[in-house]
Order: sequence, then C-alpha cells, then structure tokens
Amino acid sequence: MKIIFNKHGESLDMKWVHALVKYTFVVLSIVILAACGAVEPAVVDETLVDAGSGADSTRLLVVATTSIVGDVVNQVGGEHIRLEVLVPLGSDPHTFQPTPQDAALVSDADVLFVNGAGLEEDFLGALIDNAGDQTQVVSVSDGIELLEFVPEEEEHEDEATEGEEHEGGDPHVWMDPNNVMVWVDNIAASLSSADADSATEYSQNAANYKTQLEELDAWIRAQVAKIPAENRLLVTDHQVLGYFADEYGFEQTGTVIQGYSTTAQASAQELAALIDTIERLDVKAVFVGNTVNPNMAEQISNDTGTKLSFFYTGSLSEESGPAASYIDFIHYNVQQIVTGLE
Ligand SMILES: [Zn+2]
Repeated sequence: MKIIFNKHGESLDMKWVHALVKYTFVVLSIVILAACGAVEPAVVDETLVDAGSGADSTRLLVVATTSIVGDVVNQVGGEHIRLEVLVPLGSDPHTFQPTPQDAALVSDADVLFVNGAGLEEDFLGALIDNAGDQTQVVSVSDGIELLEFVPEEEEHEDEATEGEEHEGGDPHVWMDPNNVMVWVDNIAASLSSADADSATEYSQNAANYKTQLEELDAWIRAQVAKIPAENRLLVTDHQVLGYFADEYGFEQTGTVIQGYSTTAQASAQELAALIDTIERLDVKAVFVGNTVNPNMAEQISNDTGTKLSFFYTGSLSEESGPAASYIDFIHYNVQQIVTGLE
C-alpha cells in the first residue's frame, strides 16, 4: 500500500480518522438537538392522540355476543357505534367460553347485546359479573314468544333427567326474520337511550333495515313455494329450525342431537329412531350446521341415502363467505333448503 502524506505530515488514512471524528460529532449534535426539540412534537402528538380518542369516545362501545346479533346491531348503530363481537366466526355459541380479554372488553362496554332466550346461559353470568357500572345488558330477544321443548315420549326412566337438561325455550329465534324485526326495535330503543343525540338516526336505520327484513320474509315465502308440500320435512344436526319451520310451513321431523344445544350426545337408540323416521317419511335431506362436527350427520346421510346439505346456524361466515351478513345467511340457508328438498 502506498501512503501519501499531506502538507501537515499526516497520512491520508489519519485524515479519514479526523474526518470521521468530526462527522460523528456533527451527527451526535443533530441527534441531541433533535432529542431536545422532540419534547415539543411529543406534546403535539399526545394532543392528537387525545383528540382521536376524544372523537371515538363520542361513539358508543357496543359488544355483541354472536356475529348474527352483531350484524343486526351494526345495521341499526351504523357509524355511531364501535362494535365488538365475542364469539369468533365459525364457533359454536353453545360451547363458547369467554377469555379474560372478552371480560375486559365487556367491562368497558356501554352496551352488551346478548341473544338471550338461554343461548348464552352458560357464560352470561360471568360476563355480567365483569360488566362495568355503566354497561347496559340488553337481551335482543325480549318480547319474542319462545318455543318450548317438548321431550319425546320417554321410554326409559333414565331419560327423564336427560330431558330436564333441555327445559327452557328455543334460543334460535334468528332463524325467522320476523323475530329479528323485534331485535331491531329492541336494539334501536337501547342505543337511543344510551346515546340520545343519535336517536333519530337509530330509528331511521331501524326502519330501513326492517323494510329489508320484510322483503326477505316475502322472498323466503316465494322460495318455499318451490318445495312440494310433502317434502317440507327438516332433519338437522340439533333442533335449530323450530321458528323457521313454524313460520314457513315445515315440520322439524328429527335431529341428530336431541334438544336446542349442540352439547348433548346422541344415543344409539336415538340414531336408530332417526334413521327409521327418515326412511319411513322419505325425508330428502339432512342439514348440518357450520359450527358442529358433521360426522354423525354424514353417517346418517350415508346410511339412509339422503342428501347431506350444509347450512349456517350459530355464526355468520367469514367476510368472503356466502353468509357474511344476516340477510346473506338467510338467503344461503333457504337456497340450501330449497335445493335439498325440492
Ligand atoms: Zn344452536
């Protein structure tokens, strides 16, 4: 390596060292100045954050248990609410267990909307215990006349206790849009009392959405008319279509699992009886919901040579799926029923 000396007798390498020292000093100075100067921008930032959450705090924090309740709440609340849903998409509301994060969310909420009618029975107590003083808990199904479970004729004494587990009303009120119109009124009333400034908009949104639900009801009747009357027999994974059957002229002929919940186990006798019913009445399809293990329904369908149809029960689909809103959920289900039974 050839070393060139400058007029001060320093090597060029030393010159680089000096330059580096000077450069480092300049950079450090800039960093220190910036750090001192940063005090002021930090205050500005904090003000911006405050302004942001201030704007947000004028919107109600609303929590819904299921995605179906959540969608209807959102139709009424629109831009005036911040909505959080507890039961994840595709999860079974009958077996849901809230996390500590869910409990914290509920404690901050202005309103907690629950389906009611016993759907959240197993976890609602814990959620309400965690609700804040300001949290209003609203059952959207209040005022709906519930269907009551009528246990099948009990052949064995040990089934009597099993039957008792199913006492209470049918929680699946959302399967009939006429019941969801009652939800809409309950939701609008609760949001209006929690946020009177936006009451006019809640009531306008509610009226618009109820018009859509009336159209949905008329559409269902037109679809159902395509199904021959003798084919309007529904076999499902659990007893989920009672309100739909009553409103639109079907019979809930049988279920894989007895009762309104997905948590029970079907006995061999119950399954044999179901297969017998399907064959005797020439039932056309077995419907299995999106939140349960389909194996048993699949087996019944194989054993009896009936179609196996999927539908949505306790949850909406992902955004990209066919049941991302309540109205799409009903459209999809009714199309499946028509295709399965016509
Ligand atoms: Zn269910």
